[in-house]
Amino acid sequence: MFPWLDGTFKKLSNRIAADKLHHALLIQGPSGLGKSNFALELAQLLLCKARKGDEVCGFCQSCLLNAANNHPDLHVVESDKQIGVDQIRDAIKTLVSSAHMSGAKVLIIYHAHTMTESSANALLKTLEEPTANTFLLLTTDKPERILPTIRSRCEKLALPLPDLDTTIAWVKTQYDAEIDINFAKLFSARPLALFAELQEEQSFTYETYSTGLESLLQGKTSATQLAMDWQDNADKVLKWTQYWARQQCTEQLSETLWQLNLQATKVIRQLRNPGVNKTLVLTALLDKLALVKAA
Ligand SMILES: [Zn+2]
Repeated sequence: MFPWLDGTFKKLSNRIAADKLHHALLIQGPSGLGKSNFALELAQLLLCKARKGDEVCGFCQSCLLNAANNHPDLHVVESDKQIGVDQIRDAIKTLVSSAHMSGAKVLIIYHAHTMTESSANALLKTLEEPTANTFLLLTTDKPERILPTIRSRCEKLALPLPDLDTTIAWVKTQYDAEIDINFAKLFSARPLALFAELQEEQSFTYETYSTGLESLLQGKTSATQLAMDWQDNADKVLKWTQYWARQQCTEQLSETLWQLNLQATKVIRQLRNPGVNKTLVLTALLDKLALVKAA
C-alpha cells in the first residue's frame, strides 16, 4: 500500500477483522492519489481466506485467483465516459448469485460519479438491502456529482492527502531522475499523477515552460511568440498553468488566481474545437499568467 494510505488501510483491516466494515464505501480523493489501488487491495484483502492483519496471505485459492486477475467473486465496473445502467444491472446480477468461493463478494465501481441517473437507481436497491458478506467499493474524485440517495447510503471515506515531501519521496522510489520541486508542487497531493506526468514529459519539459515564462516576465519574449512556439504542447501548457493557479490558491486564496484557473479550464475546452485559433487563445492566457506572476 502507498505510504500515505497505509494508516487508513490498517484501520479498515482492523474493522474487517472485527466484522465491522460498512457494506458500502465511497472512497474519495483527487485523481492520482491511489484510490483505485486502494479499492483493489481492499477487495483482495476481503476475499483472502487467510489474511494476516492488513496483509493478504498470497497463497490461498482466492489470492491465487486475484493474482491471475480472475476471481469469480470480484466484480469491477468502470467506464471512460459513462457507466450505463446495463453495466450496473449485469454486475448486480452476478453479485447476488451465490458466491463461487463461499466467502466475501466484492463489487468495485471506479469513477462512480460517471454513473447515469438510471445506473445509480439500479444500484440503490443493493445499497439499501445488502446481502451478507457483500461489499461495494465506489471510488470518485467528484463526490458532489453522485446522487445524494447513493451518497447517503455509503460510508464516506475521504483518503488522506500526502504532503509534498511524502509525494516526492514516493515518486523517487519509482523514477530515477531529478525532480523539479516547483513541478512536483503542481501535483503535491497526487503522487501517481506526478509520476505519470514525469514519465510522459520528454521533449517539452517543465523547464522549457518555466524558462519561457521567466523570459516573458523579463520582457525578453512576447506572449505571442511563446504561444506560437508552444502551440503543439498547448495541452501541457494549459494543464500546468491550471495546476499552478490551483496550487497557489491553496497557499493563498486570490480572485485573480482563481480567474486564471477558470480561464485555463475554458481554453482547454475551447481547444477541443478544431476550428479554434490556438495561438490566439494561448496568447491571451499567457498574457494573463504573466500579469498574475508579475503581481
Ligand atoms: Zn489469501
